[in-house]
Amino acid sequence: MKKTDILIIGAGPCGLFTVFEAGLLKLKCHLVDSLPQAGGQCAEIYPKKSIYDIPGIPSILAGDLVGNLMEQIAPFKPEFTLGERAEKIEKLADDSFLLTTNRGTKINAPVIAIAGGLGCFEPRKPPIENLVRFEDKGVEYIIKDPEFYRKKRVVISGGGDSALDWTIFLADVADEVMLVHRRQQFRGALDSVEKVHQLAKDGRINLLTDAQAVGLNGNGVLTDVIIRHKTKGEFVQPADHFVPLFGLSPKLGPIADWGLNITKNAIEVNTLDYSTNVPGVYAIGDINSYPGKLKLILCGFHEATIMVQSAFKHIYPEKKLSFKYTTVNGVEGF
Ligand SMILES: Cc1cc2nc3c(=O)[nH]c(=O)nc-3n(C[C@H](O)[C@H](O)[C@H](O)COP(=O)(O)OP(=O)(O)OC[C@H]3O[C@@H](n4cnc5c(N)ncnc54)[C@H](O)[C@@H]3O)c2cc1C
Repeated sequence: MKKTDILIIGAGPCGLFTVFEAGLLKLKCHLVDSLPQAGGQCAEIYPKKSIYDIPGIPSILAGDLVGNLMEQIAPFKPEFTLGERAEKIEKLADDSFLLTTNRGTKINAPVIAIAGGLGCFEPRKPPIENLVRFEDKGVEYIIKDPEFYRKKRVVISGGGDSALDWTIFLADVADEVMLVHRRQQFRGALDSVEKVHQLAKDGRINLLTDAQAVGLNGNGVLTDVIIRHKTKGEFVQPADHFVPLFGLSPKLGPIADWGLNITKNAIEVNTLDYSTNVPGVYAIGDINSYPGKLKLILCGFHEATIMVQSAFKHIYPEKKLSFKYTTVNGVEGF
């Protein structure tokens, strides 16, 4: 059984930054994430997109932000258990918690910080009979690296920001891009909708509204997408990739069964210290809920900073906590 001071569930940006703030208080952290890599949504959903609202950093690729956070927390030597889902939490006689993952790893800590974001997220899949057969053989639900599509024929399906953004991005990368959407109106940002219409007008993408993908062909790997159009009927579109971008269905997963107060798939917290209704269990980042909550990285960073102060007092009720600036002590000084 492994032991740590703060057991962090979720290695997204907020979970990662917790390690830094905890490190300043000499608290050790262990992070558990069901994904095989750290970074949460930034690494899994949009690593190549720029973020513009991290204070002091005018623009940074989401993947680079994760890289920087990993560098920033390295001096505090966090431990990681990746590719394993936090499944069960038990309270032990000494008031500490024992977490068991779906692969049987056991970690003991006096404090649990849930930074589970959207939970264990699953992509929403279109109802195409043989879709699963082509997963990773031409069908992807998340675009991780646009270079993967260089000189390829891509059919994107969806009407939200992801579908619009990637259509715009891949217009410069792929050989052919077709955007298929079952309605005429898009749900995404107006600016992106205008860009997509302009690209279609310029002949740089193929835009098909009132249409949907209804089947896939291929022998081992994808060769065509079968598309049904409201007036033109069904036709076969040759394609190397079919990327349905219908969003992620947020599933809290096992977290929902841990006796926490949950509203609309988020954990209720006290904004005094981001504690939950279970003493010793905190929730920060996208997974928590309180009046005025904004699901932004910078808000999660703030929550992590406040939360570790309370975690320290929970672990060491007798010890005095003295507040220090990093400019005075550096990182090694802590
Ligand atoms: C396309 C897009 C663009 C965005 N742009 C911006 C932006 O410009 N600025 C901004 O501030 N925010 C932006 N966001 C939002 C931002 O990404 C989130 O606010 C941020 O990722 C939340 O961080 P987090 O650490 O709370 O959770 P997440 O990043 O969601 O990470 C949570 C992690 O917890 C893991 N997890 C969940 N349950 C379990 C479990 N039971 N066991 C193990 N692991 C578990 C998940 O696998 C995941 O890795 C954007 C989001 C998207 C989708």
